[in-house]
Amino acid sequence: MVTVEDCSKKRIVKEIKVDLDKCIGCRACEMACSGFHAVPKFSSTNPARSRIRVIVEDRKDVYVPVRAGDYTPAECNGRNTYVINGKEYSECSFCTASCPARDLFKAPDSGLPLRCDMCADDPTLPVPMCVQVCRSDTLTYVEREEESREEVTYDEVESGLESLANRYGIDKVADLVARISRTKS
Ligand code: SF4
Ligand code: SF4
Repeated sequence: MVTVEDCSKKRIVKEIKVDLDKCIGCRACEMACSGFHAVPKFSSTNPARSRIRVIVEDRKDVYVPVRAGDYTPAECNGRNTYVINGKEYSECSFCTASCPARDLFKAPDSGLPLRCDMCADDPTLPVPMCVQVCRSDTLTYVEREEESREEVTYDEVESGLESLANRYGIDKVADLVARISRTKS
């Protein structure tokens, strides 16, 4: 496919929003996710197999649900420390990567990396499992609009020009193209 130029369009993206203030650390999300991904489905639950893990600090009532992102073959160089309600956390605590530096987001039996699939199934779940079971509304499924870059091909340009020529006449379209080419040169 030959790309002529990119055009931006709006598209709807669905995502899981996390409101940390509401999390009570019940870990129902971990159980639901691991049950959904068990084979056969819901035959067992094991938080170690979950694609969402709740980082817990009981004494401070701090619970941070983190969903598994991409696998990374090497641990990163940088380390930041976060302080939440006076308790220090390493950046790794909230990282979404399945990484060689820690055991999080690896299948307990095979060691293969785990990744949140937004509950991909056939058909995809209308609402992800972790959101369905989160009674405190910490996890909500929301929609947001974002710019998307779409490639425009020569074929599409040709058919666009053809329809303009049919509508306004070939001379007007040729004039327009000549004017645009002068401003771009
Ligand atoms: S189910 Fe909701 S409230 Fe419970 S631990 Fe998970 S995110 Fe927090
Ligand atoms: S969206 Fe689905 S796969 Fe991802 S963490 Fe939640 S339950 Fe697991």
